[in-house]
Amino acid sequence: MAEIDDVLARAADGGRIEAAEAELLYLEAPFHPLAEAADAARRRVIGDNIVTYLIDRNINYTNVCVTACKFCAFYRAPKHEEGWSHSLDEVLRRCGEAVELGATQVMLQGGHHPEYGVDYYEELFSAVKRDYPDLVIHSIGPSEIAHMAKVSGVEIDEAIGRIKAAGLDSIAGAGAEMLPERPRRALAPLKESGERWLEIMETAHGHGLESTATMMMGTGETAHERIEHLRMIRDVQDRTGGFRSFIPWTYQPENNHLKGRTQATAMEYLRLLAVARLFFHNVTHLQSSWLTTGKAAGQLSLHLGVDDLGSIMLEENVISSAGARNSSRLSELIELIRTADRVPAQRNTVYERIAVHWRPEDDPTDDRVRSHVSTIVKELQISPK
Ligand code: SF4
Repeated sequence: MAEIDDVLARAADGGRIEAAEAELLYLEAPFHPLAEAADAARRRVIGDNIVTYLIDRNINYTNVCVTACKFCAFYRAPKHEEGWSHSLDEVLRRCGEAVELGATQVMLQGGHHPEYGVDYYEELFSAVKRDYPDLVIHSIGPSEIAHMAKVSGVEIDEAIGRIKAAGLDSIAGAGAEMLPERPRRALAPLKESGERWLEIMETAHGHGLESTATMMMGTGETAHERIEHLRMIRDVQDRTGGFRSFIPWTYQPENNHLKGRTQATAMEYLRLLAVARLFFHNVTHLQSSWLTTGKAAGQLSLHLGVDDLGSIMLEENVISSAGARNSSRLSELIELIRTADRVPAQRNTVYERIAVHWRPEDDPTDDRVRSHVSTIVKELQISPK
């Protein structure tokens, strides 16, 4: 216990802990001291009790993919009758809808289409920027970059330079799944290795393209492999500082080849979040996924080091009736944050707070909260009730 107490105290103060110490906390630290240390670390890094969210739209441009990851219910092999690709005009139309509904960011993601090289993405990103210059393109991941470079026969460095010049603002952490070799091979044998995924991220950071880092838990990986995933990301962060946030979520088995595998429990997820907050002394933001783990776990996560609840995603299949659905989801999220004793705020892609839902009764004596009133620069277009 003395060792656990020492590690918790050091990490809560912003000190660096080793992977073996993180694994010890993950497996053996009593829950309440672990949560207290993670919350102290959050408060030290973030400075107040604001919890942020983002309004964005996920636009899938194709479901055709040659990589056939075993956990993926989305993709269809080339020539499959259910394969589809959206035209550029259709992608632009969806971007326009997103802007109308108050989105500040689009996440363009798709399968590894056998014909989509760097030129396809240059055309896509430059068209979005031409029509919607203020819309942030936070999109694709190292897997798509590796694929487009291969299709075009160019180096990763050239591919990244060209898509950045075309308008890509930052890179999504997509495709990380599990980075250690054994679980990654089991999940996605045709995907690039975890080391390669990180190399591409490092190259992107070198081009000034920041990114997020993600993790998909619950497909049969061990506790040791979960912590190893964190270590691999932190090693790159030590060199680049390019990861803005860490975003773990739990695998949801449905309609794919891994159906039936054990998911991570809510408690495993919450403990991982707390350990991530303590281990990532050099990653500012930590996001939890309330949509996959449920509202109760989402609220609890805000007391385990989490400062961001991710996006109010304007979903593809509800966009035509988006007004009511998204307004009610936003109200729900704001209420969820408030009733967890935190102050909600909309952010943009780079975590600037663009609308703080502050009320004097939140904590009128807290100058750090009060000062953020001045950051309210616009009203939300999707108003909470
Ligand atoms: S690369 Fe992406 S779209 Fe293709 S199978 Fe894997 S997860 Fe699905």
